[in-house]
This record gives sequence, structure tokens and C-alpha cells, in this order.
Amino acid sequence: MPEVFNWQLGRPMRYPYDESRPKRQFSAVFNINRCLGCQTCTMACKSTWTFSRGQEQMWWNNVETKPYGGYPQNWDVKLLEILGPQAWNGEIYQGQTIFESAPPSEPNGHLPDLSEWRFPNIHEDTSVPWQKGAALPVHDTWFFYLQRICNHCTYPACLAACPRKAIYKRPEDGIVLVDQSRCRGYRYCNKACPYKKTMFRGTSTTTEKCVACYPRVEEGQVTRCIAACIGKIRLQGWVDDEKSPIHYLVRKEKVALPLYPQFGTEPNVYYIPPRWVPREFLTQMFGPGAEAAIAKYSNPSPELLAILQLFGATDRIIHSYDFDGVRVVGFDENRREILRVKINEEVIVRPEGRMNIS
Ligand code: SF4
Ligand code: SF4
Ligand code: SF4
Repeated sequence: MPEVFNWQLGRPMRYPYDESRPKRQFSAVFNINRCLGCQTCTMACKSTWTFSRGQEQMWWNNVETKPYGGYPQNWDVKLLEILGPQAWNGEIYQGQTIFESAPPSEPNGHLPDLSEWRFPNIHEDTSVPWQKGAALPVHDTWFFYLQRICNHCTYPACLAACPRKAIYKRPEDGIVLVDQSRCRGYRYCNKACPYKKTMFRGTSTTTEKCVACYPRVEEGQVTRCIAACIGKIRLQGWVDDEKSPIHYLVRKEKVALPLYPQFGTEPNVYYIPPRWVPREFLTQMFGPGAEAAIAKYSNPSPELLAILQLFGATDRIIHSYDFDGVRVVGFDENRREILRVKINEEVIVRPEGRMNIS
């Protein structure tokens, strides 16, 4: 099996195909701290892509309540158990990935029971049992919302598992798609995807998944679930482009982290971890950078503060940005200005004589 480099593990790993990175990689950052759990994103996706017969229980975007919720149920707990011991030495992963812990023919995984797909947010708003009151830095009683779409992984397990080669990763933007004319519904990808984001459709007997709203992305627009987000917690861009705000958040400032990097697929949706949650839990979920990411988010630099203003501020994809210490300006692919935001509100003092007092 070829050896490829996975930067999220800080080391090479084994993967069935050679390393091949797209021209640019579709990516997003979700700020968990600001999510309302309103499911507007979920419904925006459903009403766009999965409203037909056979798709009733198919939620390409779902928002689940952690630690107890999951769609499908216990998707991550089951895989963590299958994977075995997971240890980090600094930023280098010492355990095995789903490709390394498996028999050579297919990634390690599990096929959920049909009944486990029934609820996109089971155990909604259920917290860890009440112990004491809540106070930062870590609450004793806690839950949080985890927003989930396909991660359009650099090393997709779904693609690696498909014997029909029906799953492909687009070289122009890294979006992972299923060729419906090649899929025969064997469900190897359903078993292999560690995030359980490929879904079987009974009426067509094929697999379907999040398409990253590619027709919108091709027009320079953000996806439906990102455009619709009420809490303005989502930002889309290109993680490997040094001018992109996503690159700043993920690679430079390291305030946004991959979900379960130890699985080994190099996922491309990143999360600003929730401030109030026990660090041990966050380290298991987002890797060893969780504590440092929270420290940076809690005490943001002016540039980080500026980029946080870009979340939900436009439905165009921001390719690059300029920051002059006062305002941040976002640009499209052709360096045309899309938006401009001041990072501090001006304080305007009413002149004497115009005071609003009776
Ligand atoms: S999240 Fe799953 S379905 Fe999406 S690209 Fe990665 S392995 Fe494939
Ligand atoms: S990117 Fe598009 S297809 Fe994917 S979950 Fe969001 S709305 Fe659905
Ligand atoms: S629309 Fe935004 S705020 Fe609402 S649940 Fe989705 S991610 Fe959270």
C-alpha cells in the first residue's frame, strides 16, 4: 500500500492510492461556540437535495448534541472502540488510522443498523448529568452542538473502499462525489466512511452523499447550509491557499481543528472547539491542539478578531482578505472586493445641546 503524508497526523501513513492533492481544496470552518442548534442548515440542505422518495431519513447536514447524540447513533463511539489505543506525542499521532488498523483490503469501520439512522439529533440538548453550576473555564454540566457535513477528505475512506471506483475526488476543488451510474449499492463506502456521511437510498439502491453544493461553488457562492446559517458560525474557503482566511484559521493560527484527525482521512471541515467543555473530551475529538485553540479564541489577536467578522457576512466565497488593523476586506477569486467590515464599532458621542434628556 502506498505511503502518503497526512499533515494532521504529523507523519506519513498508508493509503490504497498515491498522494494526489487537488488544485485547491474545498474547506470550511464551523465555530461551535456560536451555534444555536436551530437546524436551519439541516433544513436548507434537505429542501435542496434530499426531499425525494427514499431520502426521508437522509440528512447530509445534521447538527447533533454531544456527548450523547449521533447520526447514525454512536457512530463515533463505535469507531473509537474499533480503532484501539490512540496516543499523541506532541503533534505526532502514535496510534493507528482506519487504514492501518484494518485488513489490507478495506478500511476499518462498521455498518450501522438501519434503525440507527432514524434521528438526526437524538438526545437533543441532553447534558452530562448535573453536578455543579456552570462557570468557565470548564463547565461541570455540559453539552454542545456538533455540525456535520461530509468532510471532502483528502484521503477519503469512502473512495478507498469502493470496488466499482464509483467515488471520485474532483481535481479542481477536492469535492468528493459518487458517480450514480457506476454505483451498485454494495455499501462498502457506508461501512468505511468513519464519519458516516455516505448514505444508502433504498429506492435507487445506490449511495448518495453531500455534494458540497458544487453548482453553487462553481459560481463562486458558498453552500446552502453555510449561506442559511442563522448563527453565522460557518465560513467557507480553500484551506491550502495561503491568502484564504480558512488557511489563516487552520494552518497559521491553528484555532480551527479537524474532527477526529486520528481516523486518518485528513478531513477538510474544521472546528473552533467549544470553550466550556472538558479538555480531555475535546482532545479526543479534535486532537492535541484543542487547549491552545481555545486559548487563542478566548484572547484573539486583532487579525483573528477581524477574520471572525467574516463568518456569515456574505454568500460569496472569500478567496483572499486584507487587514489593515482597522477593517478587513474580503475578495473573490478575481480580487474583486466582496465585503468590508470594521473590527470595532465607532463610539459616537452626542454633542452637548443634543442630549436625549428631558
Ligand atoms: S467524510 Fe466520509 S463520505 Fe465524506 S469524503 Fe470523507 S470518507 Fe468520504
Ligand atoms: S454542502 Fe450542500 S450538499 Fe453538503 S451538507 Fe451543505 S447544503 Fe448539503
Ligand atoms: S444554522 Fe447555524 S446556528 Fe443553526 S444549527 Fe446550523 S450551524 Fe448551528
